[in-house]
Amino acid sequence: MRSVYLDHTATTPLDPDVLEAMRPYFNDIYGNASSIHQFGREARAALDRSRETIAGLVGAKAGEIFFTSGGTEADNAAILGVAARAVKSGKRHVITSGAEHHAVLSPCRHLEEQGCAVSFLEVDQHGAVDPELVRKAIRTDTCLVSIMHANNEVGTINPVEEISAIAREYGIAVHTDAVQSFGRLPLHVDDLGLDLMTLSAHKMYGPKGIGALYLRRGIGADPVMLGGGQERGRRAGTENVAAAVGFARAAELQCSRMQDDNVRLLALTSLLRESIVSRISGIVVNGHPERSLTHILNVSFDASKIEIDGEALLFNLDLAGIAVTSGSACTSGSMEPSHVLLAMGRTPGTAQATIRFSLGRSTTRDDVGYTVDRLEEIVRRIGVRRN
Ligand code: PLP
Repeated sequence: MRSVYLDHTATTPLDPDVLEAMRPYFNDIYGNASSIHQFGREARAALDRSRETIAGLVGAKAGEIFFTSGGTEADNAAILGVAARAVKSGKRHVITSGAEHHAVLSPCRHLEEQGCAVSFLEVDQHGAVDPELVRKAIRTDTCLVSIMHANNEVGTINPVEEISAIAREYGIAVHTDAVQSFGRLPLHVDDLGLDLMTLSAHKMYGPKGIGALYLRRGIGADPVMLGGGQERGRRAGTENVAAAVGFARAAELQCSRMQDDNVRLLALTSLLRESIVSRISGIVVNGHPERSLTHILNVSFDASKIEIDGEALLFNLDLAGIAVTSGSACTSGSMEPSHVLLAMGRTPGTAQATIRFSLGRSTTRDDVGYTVDRLEEIVRRIGVRRN
């Protein structure tokens, strides 16, 4: 049976060049990067080169990049770290949005439990944050604004430059989760006015389990992971040198092909969107019509026009060899409608019948054609039209 992977927002396969770059660091250069002998020094040199590469790609200094176990840890380190430092001077308020990834929402909820205040800003119908809402939410005790660069479910790109300009007027640190935009959009910490930024390797054909936090020099944040003092005391734990090398190589490769990939992916997602909308009625396209990542297409079935079970939809697509997600959290066996779509104003009925397609390097026009054919058949079979 044909197999079509359209879930590149969840993760991507490892680029073979990345695997080659990593290979020596499993067997030959296996030293602990914190050891002072030659084995350690060799590993340290590779780690430092990787840090420099990543820093260079985002306009940062090498000393401002800290490796983490992934995007989730970097988000936690940013939010909990800044807040832990700020509460010592009486600042206990954080601003974020209701459409963030759980790696941001959960530490923010944890802060609330610890006695901090968090403003979860509303997003507009496209999933974007209005910078003026950030201004309105600012308080004298606000220590951090954390708004994602591009949304992982609907692909909407936030006006991060405008948001950070406002926060800077008030001297408030700005963090963005750039997990989905690294290698897909130009990313320069000064141009975007950022103080902290989260990155992850496995969304850009790098290895899983490695990410990084950019922390602008002079921004106060307490470390969250305590122990041996690695990463200059910012993140304890033996450094994952092979993964860092893989991350740097993946980032280099992805950034160098970004423009070509975007042109190709935009053509494919446009074809997918137009084919679905023209052949299947009752479709709502979620996301921003212009400010959007090129590889994501998120569609829902309008519950006032067609009744269709979101879980059955994904199950049937999977049976046809098509891997997609609804973008919603799957908790205790039942699919919750996506918090992002609900925040955008979709009804629970419409939000539960959602498909997120995320295309990648391997996606072809044939894959798009096959997917639309199967989807049309499945909807005809399991959907109930309302008159
Ligand atoms: N932030 C966003 C926007 C994501 O899409 C993801 C992964 O899905 C994460 C954070 C978490 O990154 P990681 O899987 O590297 O922990």
